[in-house]
Amino acid sequence: MYGPLAQLVARLDGIEEVAGSIPARSTTWRVGELYVVHHPMNIPHYGDYQKASRKTRQLVNMDHPIVYPAMGLSNEVGEFLGKLKKIFRDQKGKFTERDKESLRDELGDVLWYFTQVCTELGLTLEEVGKSNLDKLFSRLERDKINGSGDKR
Ligand SMILES: [Mg+2]
Repeated sequence: MYGPLAQLVARLDGIEEVAGSIPARSTTWRVGELYVVHHPMNIPHYGDYQKASRKTRQLVNMDHPIVYPAMGLSNEVGEFLGKLKKIFRDQKGKFTERDKESLRDELGDVLWYFTQVCTELGLTLEEVGKSNLDKLFSRLERDKINGSGDKR
Protein backbone atom coordinates (compact mmCIF):
# COMPACT_ATOMS: atom_id res chain seq x y z
CA MET A 1 0.00 0.00 0.00
CA TYR A 2 1.31 3.45 -0.90
CA GLY A 3 1.95 6.24 1.60
CA PRO A 4 -0.98 8.52 0.73
CA LEU A 5 -3.33 5.54 0.50
CA ALA A 6 -2.11 4.30 3.86
CA GLN A 7 -2.91 7.68 5.33
CA LEU A 8 -6.37 7.56 3.80
CA VAL A 9 -7.06 4.10 5.16
CA ALA A 10 -5.99 5.30 8.58
CA ARG A 11 -8.81 7.85 8.50
CA LEU A 12 -11.53 5.29 7.78
CA ASP A 13 -13.96 4.13 10.43
CA GLY A 14 -13.35 0.91 12.27
CA ILE A 15 -9.61 1.25 12.51
CA GLU A 16 -7.57 0.54 15.55
CA GLU A 17 -4.20 2.04 16.37
CA VAL A 18 -2.04 -0.79 17.59
CA ALA A 19 1.37 0.82 18.04
CA GLY A 20 2.85 4.27 18.34
CA SER A 21 1.18 7.58 18.94
CA ILE A 22 3.95 10.15 18.71
CA PRO A 23 3.43 12.05 15.43
CA ALA A 24 7.13 12.07 14.50
CA ARG A 25 7.36 8.29 14.82
CA SER A 26 5.80 5.48 12.86
CA THR A 27 2.27 4.46 13.63
CA THR A 28 0.78 1.06 12.91
CA TRP A 29 -2.92 0.74 12.24
CA ARG A 30 -4.99 -2.43 11.98
CA VAL A 31 -7.93 -2.49 9.59
CA GLY A 32 -9.46 -5.96 9.86
CA GLU A 33 -6.55 -8.22 8.99
CA LEU A 34 -4.63 -5.49 7.24
CA TYR A 35 -1.81 -3.68 9.03
CA VAL A 36 -0.85 -0.25 7.81
CA VAL A 37 2.39 1.34 8.92
CA HIS A 38 2.80 5.04 8.42
CA HIS A 39 6.01 6.89 9.15
CA PRO A 40 5.90 10.64 8.47
CA MET A 41 9.65 10.97 7.99
CA ASN A 42 10.23 7.86 5.88
CA ILE A 43 8.15 7.27 2.79
CA PRO A 44 9.37 3.93 1.42
CA HIS A 45 6.23 3.32 -0.64
CA TYR A 46 6.84 6.29 -2.93
CA GLY A 47 9.31 4.06 -4.78
CA ASP A 48 6.42 1.65 -5.45
CA TYR A 49 4.24 4.53 -6.56
CA GLN A 50 6.93 5.78 -8.91
CA LYS A 51 7.33 2.35 -10.49
CA ALA A 52 3.57 1.76 -10.81
CA SER A 53 2.93 5.21 -12.25
CA ARG A 54 5.23 4.43 -15.18
CA LYS A 55 2.68 1.87 -16.40
CA THR A 56 0.24 4.70 -17.11
CA ARG A 57 2.61 7.09 -18.83
CA GLN A 58 2.48 7.88 -22.52
CA LEU A 59 5.07 9.29 -24.87
CA VAL A 60 3.34 12.25 -26.45
CA ASN A 61 4.76 14.01 -29.47
CA MET A 62 4.49 17.73 -28.75
CA ASP A 63 6.40 19.00 -31.74
CA HIS A 64 4.05 21.90 -32.55
CA PRO A 65 4.62 25.67 -32.58
CA ILE A 66 1.88 26.18 -29.95
CA VAL A 67 3.81 24.28 -27.28
CA TYR A 68 6.46 26.89 -26.51
CA PRO A 69 4.08 29.88 -26.17
CA ALA A 70 1.56 27.78 -24.22
CA MET A 71 4.28 26.88 -21.72
CA GLY A 72 5.42 30.50 -21.66
CA LEU A 73 1.86 31.63 -20.94
CA SER A 74 1.61 29.33 -17.94
CA ASN A 75 5.07 30.35 -16.74
CA GLU A 76 4.29 34.07 -16.94
CA VAL A 77 0.98 33.61 -15.12
CA GLY A 78 3.01 31.87 -12.44
CA GLU A 79 5.45 34.79 -12.27
CA PHE A 80 2.56 37.22 -11.91
CA LEU A 81 0.96 35.14 -9.15
CA GLY A 82 4.29 34.71 -7.36
CA LYS A 83 4.76 38.46 -7.15
CA LEU A 84 1.14 38.97 -6.12
CA LYS A 85 1.51 36.32 -3.41
CA LYS A 86 4.52 38.10 -1.94
CA ILE A 87 2.65 41.43 -1.85
CA PHE A 88 0.02 39.79 0.34
CA ARG A 89 2.50 37.73 2.36
CA ASP A 90 5.11 40.43 2.97
CA GLN A 91 3.18 43.71 2.60
CA LYS A 92 -0.28 42.78 3.84
CA GLY A 93 -1.71 43.43 0.37
CA LYS A 94 -0.44 47.01 0.11
CA PHE A 95 0.61 47.73 -3.48
CA THR A 96 3.46 50.15 -4.11
CA GLU A 97 3.98 51.94 -7.43
CA ARG A 98 6.95 49.65 -8.01
CA ASP A 99 4.71 46.61 -7.40
CA LYS A 100 2.20 47.87 -9.94
CA GLU A 101 4.96 48.39 -12.52
CA SER A 102 6.33 44.93 -11.85
CA LEU A 103 2.88 43.34 -12.12
CA ARG A 104 2.18 45.34 -15.28
CA ASP A 105 5.36 43.95 -16.81
CA GLU A 106 4.34 40.38 -15.95
CA LEU A 107 0.88 40.97 -17.44
CA GLY A 108 2.63 42.22 -20.56
CA ASP A 109 4.53 38.93 -20.71
CA VAL A 110 1.24 37.06 -20.24
CA LEU A 111 -0.32 39.08 -23.04
CA TRP A 112 2.57 38.39 -25.37
CA TYR A 113 2.41 34.61 -24.90
CA PHE A 114 -1.40 34.67 -24.96
CA THR A 115 -1.27 36.48 -28.30
CA GLN A 116 1.17 33.91 -29.73
CA VAL A 117 -1.10 31.05 -28.64
CA CYS A 118 -4.08 32.73 -30.33
CA THR A 119 -2.06 33.22 -33.49
CA GLU A 120 -0.99 29.57 -33.54
CA LEU A 121 -4.69 28.62 -33.36
CA GLY A 122 -5.59 31.05 -36.13
CA LEU A 123 -7.63 33.19 -33.74
CA THR A 124 -7.60 36.96 -33.56
CA LEU A 125 -7.61 38.75 -30.21
CA GLU A 126 -10.82 40.46 -31.32
CA GLU A 127 -12.74 37.22 -31.87
CA VAL A 128 -11.49 35.72 -28.62
CA GLY A 129 -12.57 38.83 -26.72
CA LYS A 130 -15.94 39.05 -28.48
CA SER A 131 -16.67 35.38 -27.95
CA ASN A 132 -15.83 35.73 -24.25
CA LEU A 133 -18.07 38.76 -23.76
CA ASP A 134 -20.91 37.09 -25.71
CA LYS A 135 -20.69 34.11 -23.36
CA LEU A 136 -20.57 36.21 -20.19
CA PHE A 137 -23.44 38.51 -21.20
CA SER A 138 -25.53 35.48 -22.14
CA ARG A 139 -24.96 34.08 -18.66
CA LEU A 140 -25.76 37.45 -17.13
CA GLU A 141 -29.06 37.67 -19.03
CA ARG A 142 -29.99 34.12 -18.00
CA ASP A 143 -28.89 34.70 -14.38
CA LYS A 144 -26.15 32.07 -14.75
CA ILE A 145 -23.15 34.29 -14.12
CA ASN A 146 -22.32 32.36 -10.93
CA GLY A 147 -21.88 28.63 -10.64
CA SER A 148 -19.59 26.34 -12.61
CA GLY A 149 -19.46 24.49 -15.90
CA ASP A 150 -18.23 25.78 -19.25
CA LYS A 151 -21.62 25.26 -20.99
CA ARG A 152 -24.06 26.94 -18.62
MG1 LIG B 1 7.96 37.58 -16.76
